[in-house]
Amino acid sequence: MVKSAVLGYPRIGTNRSVKKAVESYWAGKSTAEQLQEVAKNVRKERWESIKNAGVDTVPSGDFTLYDHLLDHSFNFGVIPERYVAQNLTPLDTYFAMGRGRQDRSKGIDVVASEMGKFFDSNYHVVKVDHSPSTEFKLNQNQQLAEYEEAKALGITTRPVLFGPITYLSLVRKANNAPAEFQPLDLLDKLIPVYSELLKQLKAAGVEEVQIDEPILVVDKAETQGDLFKKVYEALAPVAPKITITTAYGRVGKSIEFLKDLPVYGLHLDLDREPKQLDEVVAAIKPTKLHLELGVVSGRNIWKNDLKASKDLAEKAIAELGADRVTVSSSSSLLHTPISIKVETKLTPQQLSWLSFATEKCEEVAALAGALNGKESELFEQNTKDIAARREFERTSDSAVRDRVAGITEEQLKRKSPFAARREAQKKHLNLPKFPTTTIGSFPQTKEIRVARAKFGKGEITQEEYEKAMEKEVQSVVEFQEKTGLDLLVHGEPERNDMVQYFGEQLNGFIFTQLGWVQSYGSRYVRPPIVVSDVSRPSPMTVRWSAYAQSLTQKPMKGMLTGPVTILNWSFPRADISKEVQSKQLALALRDEVVDLANAGIKAIQVDEPAIREGLPLRKADWDNYLTWAVDSFRLSTSGVEDDIQVHSHFCYSDFGDIFPSIQRLDADVISIEASKADLKLLDVFKSYGYSNEIGPGVYDIHSPRVPSAQEIKDRIAAMAKVLPADLLIVNPDCGLKTRGWKETEESLSNLVEAARWARETY
Ligand code: GLN
Ligand code: ZN
Repeated sequence: MVKSAVLGYPRIGTNRSVKKAVESYWAGKSTAEQLQEVAKNVRKERWESIKNAGVDTVPSGDFTLYDHLLDHSFNFGVIPERYVAQNLTPLDTYFAMGRGRQDRSKGIDVVASEMGKFFDSNYHVVKVDHSPSTEFKLNQNQQLAEYEEAKALGITTRPVLFGPITYLSLVRKANNAPAEFQPLDLLDKLIPVYSELLKQLKAAGVEEVQIDEPILVVDKAETQGDLFKKVYEALAPVAPKITITTAYGRVGKSIEFLKDLPVYGLHLDLDREPKQLDEVVAAIKPTKLHLELGVVSGRNIWKNDLKASKDLAEKAIAELGADRVTVSSSSSLLHTPISIKVETKLTPQQLSWLSFATEKCEEVAALAGALNGKESELFEQNTKDIAARREFERTSDSAVRDRVAGITEEQLKRKSPFAARREAQKKHLNLPKFPTTTIGSFPQTKEIRVARAKFGKGEITQEEYEKAMEKEVQSVVEFQEKTGLDLLVHGEPERNDMVQYFGEQLNGFIFTQLGWVQSYGSRYVRPPIVVSDVSRPSPMTVRWSAYAQSLTQKPMKGMLTGPVTILNWSFPRADISKEVQSKQLALALRDEVVDLANAGIKAIQVDEPAIREGLPLRKADWDNYLTWAVDSFRLSTSGVEDDIQVHSHFCYSDFGDIFPSIQRLDADVISIEASKADLKLLDVFKSYGYSNEIGPGVYDIHSPRVPSAQEIKDRIAAMAKVLPADLLIVNPDCGLKTRGWKETEESLSNLVEAARWARETY
């Protein structure tokens, strides 16, 4: 018999109940007991939903109040001294590690652990500091507790936890740790704690555990066979049956050692990498390994093609036999919303394309059923829906397809090289040396949010809403003039979100009402969904930029989100490549850029904060990605004359390994986040002889702290030591939308004062 499983499920609760409960607890409006009560109900709701969908193997231990990597650190007793010193309750210590805590009246002031992207998803884990002195002890066995909790409800589960190698690869090395130390050095100290945890599970009657080792899909793992061998030879004898999972990519050469590990099963991501199946099946055939086929995507929101998945699974079954095969999700379903059943505004046709976590569980179950000879109604309906979706895809926008097919080399290039453009732009913009500017958004005040909410509910008309936003733009422009900034922005008050705003105005996107997905902690996002070819029915931002420009003699900078970022922060289509989707977006943006220039806008910024984070996990895939990503940016920005200054902005600025691509963007000006790092990150610009203009952020916008003029002067002086002074522009790290007005006013006037000083000094 083929069995079914899923690797994990959203932790946010229906109606975002976990977010509401933790935030209410943080605000002191509810007690720890009340929070735990909500958590318990959500766990029950999750198990029942998976069970009721007909899935055989239900996960437990994957629930979290904030982040599951943080849970592991906390459960292993890794609580850095700075948190211990605050003398908080265990729950508050846990939250302080995740999000920091400040309560000056009580003398509490501790910063959060660092956060980092989880593989190539848009989820972020909390990376607790580890150093040579880190000790592990089993603080609490969450996997056991949740297993028993489910058991009491009559549901037998498969506990889930990160494997030791993935755990140590994801956590952070403490700043004060010696240079040669890496957290993986702690492996020998960690293995006994895992043994203890797994022994307790076994003693409680747990039959099988799921150990997530997604680190197996990165290149480095291919050299870590000995470590994996050591870990699993130590754990397997004391643990329940172990299935190792490998989401987010292909196992590659690692199969050579994986096939010999003394574990029960191995899981593959066959949504992302279906081609790896044959090789893996051939490798494990002579062994006893059980194979778990991750065919139902945990990453996208598309209905699974069950017929195709069945065909794939049958290939494995033919070689291994049905008893050695389980069908499963490609990763935890945490990256998908909970259910399509609550979406009331999508059409029946749109709903027939989609599958969120609950529906994915039903798919996995139906697939196992079909493989066992019981084709269900759901399976039949699925075949029809997939055929209808294909038909829809075929009839999409031929004009867009033709335009992408006809992209020329010429369209990827500005008319002249940077040096010539620079002269033209100097005349056109007439900016001083060390020009000052900002990254785009200004504080999103309560008035703005209230107006937007009212407009959303139909309580004010479009005209009233736009008037309110115009008033906001006016005050932002007045403020910048008064403060003495050189290159102005309109402040982006009309934007709910830098991706959604564009998605809503483009053809080809749909939006859910309740399709929330956890980004980190209590921050959930509702990514737009690309469903068909993308085009721009009419200008999107011209009205706002032109209005702002009409209020001032100073140049106004237009503000767009780039094609790669729009795509990376949406759910992309699965039927055509990301490259094609990105180019469709780029062409739509190209028209917008041209329209802005025609409307008298002399500088246009195309933000690409997601270009770096979209990098594939395996180096062999980088070139392909970087080629189309950079081409997309160039395509969107190269339709204008030389005298238009093209800006781009990146939030995370660790460009060491992809620097040539940053250069190839050929933006006239880039602004990068730099204030928190020491200026080492500028060395790479220097060593490559970067010749375009650059604005390393001079202060951190993530904190309300106001930098003094002197601090900013020192920062500029330090920058001018590394880079030619005449290439430098002066700006904050990122947009100001999360800041208050008061600190923004003070910070920016200090910034202007520092730039004036620089003009006289250099
Ligand atoms: N222009 C955007 C802003 O200022 C850029 C945001 C970002 O880089 N994440 O808000
Ligand atoms: Zn930014």
